[in-house]
Amino acid sequence: MMPRASQSQTGPLTRVLRLRLKDKHAAALREKSYWVNMVWNYCNDLSFKVWERERRFMSGYDFAKYTKGAGKAGIPLHSQTIQAISEEFAARRKQSKKLKLRWRVSEDARGRWYINISVKVGRPAASRMERSIGIDLGLKDFASTSDGEVIDAQHIYRDAEARLAAAQRAGKKKIVRNIHAKTANKRRDFNHKLSARLVVGHGAIFVGNVNAGALAKTRMAKSVSDAGWSQFRTMLSYKCDSAGVWFDEVHEAYSTQDCSACFARSGPKGLQDLGVREWTCLECGEHHHRDVNAAKNILRRGRATLVVGIPVL
Ligand SMILES: [Zn+2]
Repeated sequence: MMPRASQSQTGPLTRVLRLRLKDKHAAALREKSYWVNMVWNYCNDLSFKVWERERRFMSGYDFAKYTKGAGKAGIPLHSQTIQAISEEFAARRKQSKKLKLRWRVSEDARGRWYINISVKVGRPAASRMERSIGIDLGLKDFASTSDGEVIDAQHIYRDAEARLAAAQRAGKKKIVRNIHAKTANKRRDFNHKLSARLVVGHGAIFVGNVNAGALAKTRMAKSVSDAGWSQFRTMLSYKCDSAGVWFDEVHEAYSTQDCSACFARSGPKGLQDLGVREWTCLECGEHHHRDVNAAKNILRRGRATLVVGIPVL
């Protein structure tokens, strides 16, 4: 789940924080996720009951006497694992400043564990908004920004494609696997570097909520899965979180069609116009790069969402 801005116009915003758990716990978590959830739930309930009764919060240490003997009760977790979960719970509850956590523990494709927590956060200072940027994720070019930068990712695949086709024809499965693995590594490296670069110098970053799942059902499926959008967005999201940069996804409906200068819906429409890379607004005469214009609209909507507090289309 990605952070989302919503709710009232002046109060704090609710965001979903995605926090990565320590890798050293990951192996135990994967095997025992059901029981991990049980222990986390138990801590959540117990912590809330103790607060209701005594108006104090339990520390990680406090949980130990309640979870002692869990092994005898049939919970197949090592006592140190249970202790690690309850300490993690106590730390996260304190960090979120909430009485009770809404929670979920999830694992990504790379075997890293995350918990998603809803927290109230203050709005970013106005000065930050001046250094905000919108990003449109595309198929032709990987990304375009509201600053006018167009970022290409084709080099990742260009070299591999011919070799891949040859290996597939020759039925060399091991080589095919190796090429896929190398390409995935290159893409990950590219996404890491790009997300790290974008976080520097920006106070707020807005990305279109392009739906890779829906596009994957079309004939563009290969391009979509190759594009690695979701990996990029996940990286950008957690890098923004740790750098204190505001991050949000923005509805991108009509972001391609709307003129970012005069807001008339005068741009290229639908799949048949997908090849239109540049266009001129009939209303105001502004000449646009298709995706840079979309990124400018995403930035405008992102800013408006933050200021007004509700999604703006
Ligand atoms: Zn216009």
